[in-house]
Amino acid sequence: MHLLAGEQDNACEMSSTSQVGITVLVVGIVWYALNRRPATSRYCTEADYQTRLSKVLSSLESRPPGSKLSLHRRTLESNTIRNASHKISPSYFPVDLSSFHHIIQIDITNQFVVCESGVPFGELLRELLKVGMTTLVVPELPGITVGGAIAGGGLESSSHRYGQVSDTVLEIECLTPGLRTCSLDDNTELFYAISASYNTCALMTKIKLKIAPAPKYVSLSTKLYTSFQGAVDDLQKEGGSDTIEGIAYSSDDILVIRGQHTNSAASPLRKFTRHWDKWYYKTIRTSPQITVPYYDYCFRYNYGSFWMANYVLDMLGGDNILTRFVIGAFLDTKHLFAVLHSGNLTDLGRMRIIQDCYVPTGRAAEFLQAEDEDVGVYPLWLCPIKGTSTKQVLASHYSLTEGSFINVGIYGRPRRFPFDASGMHLRLIDLLIDYGGRSMLYAQTWHTPKQFWEMYGDAIEHIDGVKGANGAEDCFFGLYEKVRLSQAEREEFGKPMLGTEGEETRKVVKDIMKRKFKNPIGSWTCR
Ligand SMILES: Cc1cc2nc3c(=O)[nH]c(=O)nc-3n(C[C@H](O)[C@H](O)[C@H](O)COP(=O)(O)OP(=O)(O)OC[C@H]3O[C@@H](n4cnc5c(N)ncnc54)[C@H](O)[C@@H]3O)c2cc1C
Repeated sequence: MHLLAGEQDNACEMSSTSQVGITVLVVGIVWYALNRRPATSRYCTEADYQTRLSKVLSSLESRPPGSKLSLHRRTLESNTIRNASHKISPSYFPVDLSSFHHIIQIDITNQFVVCESGVPFGELLRELLKVGMTTLVVPELPGITVGGAIAGGGLESSSHRYGQVSDTVLEIECLTPGLRTCSLDDNTELFYAISASYNTCALMTKIKLKIAPAPKYVSLSTKLYTSFQGAVDDLQKEGGSDTIEGIAYSSDDILVIRGQHTNSAASPLRKFTRHWDKWYYKTIRTSPQITVPYYDYCFRYNYGSFWMANYVLDMLGGDNILTRFVIGAFLDTKHLFAVLHSGNLTDLGRMRIIQDCYVPTGRAAEFLQAEDEDVGVYPLWLCPIKGTSTKQVLASHYSLTEGSFINVGIYGRPRRFPFDASGMHLRLIDLLIDYGGRSMLYAQTWHTPKQFWEMYGDAIEHIDGVKGANGAEDCFFGLYEKVRLSQAEREEFGKPMLGTEGEETRKVVKDIMKRKFKNPIGSWTCR
């Protein structure tokens, strides 16, 4: 049989696609086998916490003057995806808080939980649900820790009512580098300064958070819009909904999804925590009314990391129960972030745009239109969030004039590919400056010094004052110094892609495999 040139190309493409599929499967299985860890207790006593804390405090006594305290964490566990050139600085001083991942107290009567900063929300919620409680804001990804959510500006679909995770905190114990306690009514300047400070203001060790009775289910209903303005108008109406979010599948196919807490399991009931379950963003697109168990709702974007891993299913022959059953277990955020951190983050940045942009609600439709023209990533996540005028000056929802924002989650491949990562990001930042918005700084932070100063100048001056008043003036990296891309990283991003998208993806997979075999358990570092 003779194949025409085009058919030969197709045949080659298909066989290399299945090779990539097999490679991904092997990497996943090896990774899983090497990273299983024994279960540890989720609780500790206050005395146990104090013992470990005093060891950390005494280790800080030998800290060289001028050294910068940085949270030391296994890279593979972090949900932060920016490069971290600050860690090669000679003044980098790692502080190991890896044992601070316990719950200390759950008080149902007074509705609070006290926990260490490294508790992941997935584990915290599981324990709270055993006593019928929940935190008010549960970030969408179960591996996000309580400390990471406060220092990184965690939010979710209840944020239209409660704001960010930081808005639900009652008290924080932290190191600056001495031990400090701050709360809603004690050392409030430090309390608010920590929000979205990315470990540049204090290192949190213990946190007291508000909790409330948890529902058993969330009942969801959707409404379709064909314009950004229509969807944004709806997203800003509270309407008694317990949860509100939107997903824009394209500029004229936008769902607004409202949730109501309930204790009765109305049908159809859908789950999202088993690896073979159809992913949420696909299910909800064709199901105008569903009921979801509360835990499944909170972490509905875990499998597939919103939609970012859909290309893996595509490579393996498409999304169906069989592919999800076989490979789905490796496509939760825990595994995806581990794989991501095993690779070169710059490669990811050349293949995908990942940014969370907070825009004042009144200008969100215009911003979305501009994003559509300049970037063109779909789907987009739209999450309304209540603004704050408390002195969380670094947080993206801080404003003395705007009552609410819409977080536009841009996670994916731009319409045009390959794309100019630098040009596209700098344009996004200019748009945010024009529209009075900010982006979350967990992602690659492209801001030039001028752009950063324009967005954060006043806030940084305030934070420096708070650090001075708390003995922390020289013991943390400055925010820009920590989060910005270095010149060398910018140049690496600028290197043109030579192959097709498929070829570049295969290169990335090969690189991840090589690194993984060299260093199967990842390194310790700080984001
Ligand atoms: C694709 C994608 C989707 C996302 N979606 C969401 C979402 O829906 N909702 C949401 O809330 N977030 C989302 N995030 C962002 C995520 O919340 C942040 O990256 C968060 O800060 C990660 O927390 P972590 O626990 O993994 O902490 P890490 O990654 O370890 O740390 C995050 C930052 O906080 C600092 N930090 C952590 N612990 C402490 C501490 N104890 N004291 C002081 N500083 C500390 C770290 O130094 C670092 O700068 C998303 C990220 C990605 C990549």
